[in-house]
Amino acid sequence: MSTTVRAAAKINLHLGVGAPREDGFHPLDTVYQAISLYDDVTVSDAGEDTIAVSGTPHIDVSGVPTDATNIAVRALAEAPCGGPHHVQITKQIPVAGGMAGGSADGAAALLAHDRLHDLGQPDDVLLAQAARLGSDVPFSLVGGTARGRGRGEVVEPIVDHGTWWWVVVPAAVGLSTPEVYRHFDRLHPDAPAQPAEPTELLAALASGEPVRLARALHNDLQEPAIDLRPELGDLIALGEAEGALRGMVSGSGPTCVFLCDSQVGSMEVVTALSASYDVVLSAIGPVAGAHVVSTREAE
Ligand code: ATP
Repeated sequence: MSTTVRAAAKINLHLGVGAPREDGFHPLDTVYQAISLYDDVTVSDAGEDTIAVSGTPHIDVSGVPTDATNIAVRALAEAPCGGPHHVQITKQIPVAGGMAGGSADGAAALLAHDRLHDLGQPDDVLLAQAARLGSDVPFSLVGGTARGRGRGEVVEPIVDHGTWWWVVVPAAVGLSTPEVYRHFDRLHPDAPAQPAEPTELLAALASGEPVRLARALHNDLQEPAIDLRPELGDLIALGEAEGALRGMVSGSGPTCVFLCDSQVGSMEVVTALSASYDVVLSAIGPVAGAHVVSTREAE
């Protein structure tokens, strides 16, 4: 038997970062949105534990581990029973791009394992397993548009009346998330303990108006990410000059995302940016969290 689960990339529409706590973690107040770039994870019964990773043409999967450190394999270790398994990951989500591709694979593996073995574990049990794997994994299960607090692991769906058109520009070389946080600390030694709240953003999402949402987008990690990679600032300026309502660094970067006013508007930005950048993708949000796309009997 095998089960395939699809899980989406996330972007952060709001990422408020507070001063690091005593345990070193930064308190977050963030609004996630799942967008239509997906990884597929197939978990199969097998004679021994194995893993294979492949990517759609625009994805360089060389940085994805194919051993026990892969988050999908760690997810299966977290799961209550079964095995050995073969895990096949097909990636469309840029690697180390600030879009939580690894977290999507972890969430997908947890759900695929549950369905493969017909466990029917309740949502809160799967969410607790997800939180142990990483702070973005619970959101990958939930999807849609949701607010995350703490380290991001407490997720709460929020009202979103829009269908938002995004242009996504991944970078050829990833940016280390811990390094971006360390640079945030250097730039903001007096950061407030409480991260910025997304009050206007929540109102903009409920209104469904792209111009209002564009004004409300906020990312405290954008400044350190651009300081480490100044070319990201040039990319954002170009996308906005070509008609995007607003460009921003996604999470800790280096992927940049651009909010557009419509599908037609997003295609114009894709065409314009494609003259200078190798990979320019179009996506809509919000989309569903991790979900089963197929179940097959053994051949
Ligand atoms: P985040 O935004 O959650 O910080 P990210 O999107 O920047 O993450 P990921 O693509 O999730 O980055 O990968 C971060 C690192 O995790 C990779 O460089 C890789 O070494 C490791 N990793 C482990 N498992 C996976 C996986 N299944 N897919 C991608 N990366 C993985």
